[in-house]
Amino acid sequence: MSVVDALTQRSGGKCELCEGTDGLDALAVPPEDGVDGSVLVCGTCAGRIAADDLDGNDWYALQGSIWSAVPAVQVLSWRLLKRLPDEGWAQDLLASGALDEASLRWAQDGGDDAVKVVDSNGTELKDGDSVTLIKDLDVKGANFTAKRGTMVKNIRLGDDPTHVEGRVNKTAIFLKTEFLKKA
Ligand SMILES: [Zn+2]
Repeated sequence: MSVVDALTQRSGGKCELCEGTDGLDALAVPPEDGVDGSVLVCGTCAGRIAADDLDGNDWYALQGSIWSAVPAVQVLSWRLLKRLPDEGWAQDLLASGALDEASLRWAQDGGDDAVKVVDSNGTELKDGDSVTLIKDLDVKGANFTAKRGTMVKNIRLGDDPTHVEGRVNKTAIFLKTEFLKKA
């Protein structure tokens, strides 16, 4: 049986995040894969997960999926909630203790080897580094554009290796590492 078939059986043919049924496919939750390390997600959820920024209004279903009996679904839900740092309800859910210790480790570190955070050139980034933006970035919610060439000092790494936190225009924002160059 293929992974998708097994996941379809497990989920009853529904997206394991939102219960949608369109464009269902398996999404691996790194560093795991296979049936136990994957989640069946619908096309809508997959598109939103792949986007740069999540909209909290799209993700209320996480309030259910975080309590799933399937660890992979819990871990994926946890990581998505982490990408909603401005949503109080999402942060409350993260603090709710839904995940057991093993799942939490999986959610947080993505494996035995810590994932390196790297800039657009593959140079490793660390807490306190300075970076410059290699393209104009629209800052959602803050209503300004961070211009290409802007230097961001004293960045902070978070749980998501694809983003770092920094201050632009005195506003703390999350910056996608692929648009950064270490200064
Ligand atoms: Zn879905």
